[in-house]
Amino acid sequence: MNAGKINLNALFELNYGMYIVSSIKADAVNGCIANTVFQLTPEPPVIAVSISKENLTHEYITSSGSFAVSVLAEDTPIKFTGMFGFRSGRDLDKFKDAAFKKGVTGCPIVLENTTGYVEAEVINTVDVGTHTLFIGKVLACEQFNNGKIAMTYNYYRDVKGGRTPRTAATYQEKSKKSEQQKTTTSKGGKTMQKYKCLMCGYIYDPAKGDPDNGVEPGTAFEDISDNWVCPECGAAKDEFEAVED
Ligand code: FE
Repeated sequence: MNAGKINLNALFELNYGMYIVSSIKADAVNGCIANTVFQLTPEPPVIAVSISKENLTHEYITSSGSFAVSVLAEDTPIKFTGMFGFRSGRDLDKFKDAAFKKGVTGCPIVLENTTGYVEAEVINTVDVGTHTLFIGKVLACEQFNNGKIAMTYNYYRDVKGGRTPRTAATYQEKSKKSEQQKTTTSKGGKTMQKYKCLMCGYIYDPAKGDPDNGVEPGTAFEDISDNWVCPECGAAKDEFEAVED
């Protein structure tokens, strides 16, 4: 078949939600953000989720044969989605400070910033190269009826200014816009430029530095070591953009 015109921006026309997909391995729990969750059949209720093979959650789902999907609400703080979406469970326990309960599968169900959940047992998998499509029969699900509204992927991107990690099923290379802004806004002047993490919204203020991570107050963003990462979400230094005053 011949390839037609490909404008990848057209893929942003597809609609998704925002979810924490979680699982368990022995006593350990982990989860990551996914937008690619959907229902396949009504009877029996079957859902599917696409997860990157690089994610620790992928290993846990493969190990336990089950997963939970917690539905994120619109008012979820960007730091919360940043932590679940951009940090790895290999580096920290993402559930350490999160309110959750274990469901019938043992998978953690997130009880804050969520509108409900679905728990499923894996009945099939499809290898799609970089990702696996896990197909699961629903074992339990509940609406919280807490007045919150489920967040769509477009709301996350357009209203909250959220970004997409490289391992997401719908990831696209980001534009060079942020590079251009950096070069124009960091010129001249004695006031040192503040920088914002595009992943979680954390602001690096040179006056304060990041003493907890070895960056003295008074350190210009440009002078921070390249290995430094966002103290809130773990994003790399090149994910920051100069803040317009
Ligand atoms: Fe961050």
